[in-house]
Order: sequence, then structure tokens, then C-alpha cells
Amino acid sequence: MKKSLNFCFLAGAFAVLSLTACTDEKMEDNVLPQPQNESAKIQQPGEKEKICSYVDQNWSSTAVLKTALKTTTDTNFMNAQMAKIISLWGGTSLTFRFVDDPSNANSTYNAISYSNGKIYYGYAIYYDAKAKGGDIVNAMILAHEYGHQLQYRYNLPSVNESTARPNELEADGFAGYYLRKPNGYNKTNFTEIATAYEFAQSIGDYQTTSAGHHGTPPQRRSAVRLGFLLGQYDLSATDFDYNFFYYYQGVLNGTYKMGKNSKNPEIDAYMSQYMDELRKIQSGEISAEEFKNLK
Ligand SMILES: [Zn+2]
Repeated sequence: MKKSLNFCFLAGAFAVLSLTACTDEKMEDNVLPQPQNESAKIQQPGEKEKICSYVDQNWSSTAVLKTALKTTTDTNFMNAQMAKIISLWGGTSLTFRFVDDPSNANSTYNAISYSNGKIYYGYAIYYDAKAKGGDIVNAMILAHEYGHQLQYRYNLPSVNESTARPNELEADGFAGYYLRKPNGYNKTNFTEIATAYEFAQSIGDYQTTSAGHHGTPPQRRSAVRLGFLLGQYDLSATDFDYNFFYYYQGVLNGTYKMGKNSKNPEIDAYMSQYMDELRKIQSGEISAEEFKNLK
């Protein structure tokens, strides 16, 4: 007992030292590192990870960044998903890292998309999602996080509210789209996606750095469904946004029967079949169970 106590104390002391050493990095979401003797080194991608064990203020002080999960299979799966998601949206590379905290494993139950082109994915959320819902849940969470990268890059969503709801609903939509696409996760059977989504949402606070309302569960379900339906078409991120909110706002406001999506008449003909269904998902008239049985 005494031994492990001492060990904990030492580990804690080390964490405090690391934290002090990495104060500059903590600010990197907003501020460029101050010029200093080590600046050449610090600007090298990956170099900071060797110097600092402290991740940032969103993670526990004992958390560390890693380039791998526990097994090569897990790491390869996630890296392959990341590459596919990036490629689907025609994106450039980003910094994708895992966060582990051996001394406080549950603290990494999170996945975060940063505005400066980084996605950090916690060990705890990865392994819990895999154990309870399978690979598709991690693919969905990752596609949701990448949706936030698209929002940063293209200044989306085009709809603003006082909460993060449109950002989160659209990220759910981006995930539904990715899961359907043949060059994405390639699941044309919606039931599997719906089941994965129910699980992803239940473990839910996988979050962006912006705080706030994510939308009600029925709203989030209808967002995933809408993204899945739009996966019938090949859309750029900005076209996705246009169509997503065209139909989503219509569903929310009850105006979906009045207007015509003249920008994309073909999509409109297809989507008009689903407007009532989307409204019923959003209102809760289609239950979580019924949601899983949609075609
Ligand atoms: Zn999010």
C-alpha cells in the first residue's frame, strides 16, 4: 500500500512539472507559440508530443498523447477510417491522436475536434464503444468529429443558433452520410446505422470544444437519418450543408411542404418522400425502436 502511494505521489509531481513545461501548448487553440530558443523544435509536428506528456486543458493532467491504440488491429482500423473520411470529403491531412491515461482510465472517455486541425480520441471511449457496439460506433463517432473539421474549414453550419445545436445536428448528419457512402463505411442497411447511432448517443458526450446543447435525442436521430438519405447523392461539404438545413429547417418549422429546393430538383424529388418521416422522427412520433427498423 505504502509503495503504491509513493508511486502515485511521484507520478503526480511529474504531471505538475510537465504541465508547467507545456503552458504554451495549452494555448495553441488560440495563440501561436511565443518565439523562443526552442521554437524551431516546437514547430516540428510531433516534437511537442515527445516533450510534453500534458495534453491540454480538456483532458486530465495525467493523460498522454499516443499515435496508437492497444493493438495494431485497433490502430489500423481507426487510421483507415480517418483516411477514408478525409478522402470522402476531399480533405487534407490532419493530426489524429489517441489519448491514454493509465492512471485514470475513465478520464479519456471523450473525443474532441479542435479548430486547428486536430482530432484527439480517448482510449476509454474507443474501447467501450467497441465492446458494446462494435467497430461501426467508433466509425460513427470519428465521422461526427470530422464533421466539426468540415465546419471549421468551410465556415459551417450556415445556420446559427444561440447553442451548438446546429453544429451538433449537422455533425450527426455528416456521420450518417459517411456511413452510407460506398466509398465510406458502405452500410446501405439503415438498421445497422440506427443501432450504432443509438449506442453512440447513449455514451454520448463526445463533444466539440464549443459547449452547449446538442439537440434532443429525437432531433439527433432525424439528423442522422437525413444525413443517411443525402448519402444517396455525391455532395461537397457546402452542398451537404445547404441540403441538410434546407430539409432540416423545413422539418423543424413545418415549412417543408411549401418550398421547393430549386437548387437540387433531383434531390428534392427523392427527399419529398421522406419529409413526413423526418418530421415524425423529430417529433418522437417514430420511437427509438421504430427508428431502428427504418429501411
Ligand atoms: Zn460534436
